[in-house]
Amino acid sequence: MAIATIDPTTGITLKTFDAHTPEEVENRIARAEAAFRSLQNTSFEERARWMHKAADILESEADEVARLIATEMGKTLTTAKYEALKSATGMRHFADHAQRYLSPETPVPASEVNASNLHVQFDPLGVVLAVMPWNYPLWQAVRFAAPALMAGNTGLLKHASNVPQCALYLGDLFARGGFPEGAFQTLLVEGKDVIPLVDDARIRAVTLTGSVAAGSAIAEAAGRNIKRSVLELGGMDVFIVMPSADIEKAAAQAVIARLQNSGQSCIAAKRFYVHEDVYDRFEHLFVTGMAETVAGDPLDESTSFGPLATERGRQDVHELVRDAREKGAAVQCGGEMPEGEGWYYPATVLTGVTENMRIYREECFGPVACLYKVSSLQEAIALSNDSDFGLSSSVWTNDETEATEAARSIEAGGVFINGLTASFPAVPFGGLKDSGYGRELSAYGIREFVNIKTVWTA
Ligand code: NAP
Repeated sequence: MAIATIDPTTGITLKTFDAHTPEEVENRIARAEAAFRSLQNTSFEERARWMHKAADILESEADEVARLIATEMGKTLTTAKYEALKSATGMRHFADHAQRYLSPETPVPASEVNASNLHVQFDPLGVVLAVMPWNYPLWQAVRFAAPALMAGNTGLLKHASNVPQCALYLGDLFARGGFPEGAFQTLLVEGKDVIPLVDDARIRAVTLTGSVAAGSAIAEAAGRNIKRSVLELGGMDVFIVMPSADIEKAAAQAVIARLQNSGQSCIAAKRFYVHEDVYDRFEHLFVTGMAETVAGDPLDESTSFGPLATERGRQDVHELVRDAREKGAAVQCGGEMPEGEGWYYPATVLTGVTENMRIYREECFGPVACLYKVSSLQEAIALSNDSDFGLSSSVWTNDETEATEAARSIEAGGVFINGLTASFPAVPFGGLKDSGYGRELSAYGIREFVNIKTVWTA
């Protein structure tokens, strides 16, 4: 895959970039390692000052960064700006809380383990490699970078090949805030050239957000090298609606849940299980809401959602719809490949989806919803768990027993009751099964890339 900015509204290549040569990659790894030796001896206060300064810079440049995001991957300017500001908030969160998240702990009184003194401390690991996707080109990278740097690690960012300008922006941001040169750098390399980086002994840990195939390749290499890894992979999140829910609100939120980021979000709801008692009403509201939401120019502030980020992505989405239609699914709205330039795809709702259709199990990374009728919460939960993925879920009910049962039984990294799945800097994020392992964000996330060191004194 060439490293290039290609405008998703036209398919025109705006700018191409040469991949870094092996010598340049080598220089950057060496610089990251050298920077670690100084960064690990800095205080939380110093790092927090630099992180806040970097957040100030990002906030002051949010409009131009938003334009960059929208141009490279097609999300709307409004959501791109929101992403830039959310990234700054995430940076401030770790600036303010890293010290607390990583303060030494005493698990039991020292005397219980025959010591005069006992504590557990959290030391940085060294150079951490982050392989990141294009769908939230700033937020995905920042939610790695902010905790990693605040813990005292240095970072190398291998970003997706279709967002090189976002990658280069991030490569400078932390140094502009004051972090030592080499503390955070971008590597312009293609996905196929990542494994030798994981094999490099100077890189002490790796995290990937992306597809199952890429995650599996990284996990294999990390395992072979006995190296720490975190994987945030795909999702087939469910949206369950029970009769006690506010159906109007649930249907309106369901449209947002599916169409956020043009449907290209790991935590976008993809499977909608609606109780038979409220199914007809929900279906009417949901299909109407989806059909009325039209894709348009991301740079126009009135647009609800933009084109898909890549031509290949749009083709993959349409193939899943075509396969389902051929095998008997009903297309309630959308489903047709638009003519004309740009990688637009309409909001689509499928009903009558059955197990023999690919979309029943495969993640559809676009604005396509599968709507199912269920007769009980138990059935909805059983269907939810009949998936290779387990990222998150959204359950709409005003019955506390049902909410408790859903939270207990859904096999996923999150259960959101009467709300959309979302990520917050202070709350752990991650999944089970093919959705990956490890957690990002919060105290749990920052502890993924530290050495948990026991210090025992006789
Ligand atoms: P992808 O192809 O896996 O790309 C993600 C990153 O991995 C890119 O930087 C890519 O580089 C790199 N890559 C690709 N193949 C690789 C390989 N064999 N070895 C090492 N690195 C490799 O993912 P995508 O299809 O563009 O992104 C969408 C996927 O990401 C979806 O499945 C989505 O659910 C998932 N996602 C998950 C989360 C989460 O937090 N759980 C968040 C967002 C997205 P190149 O661009 O150079 O190929």
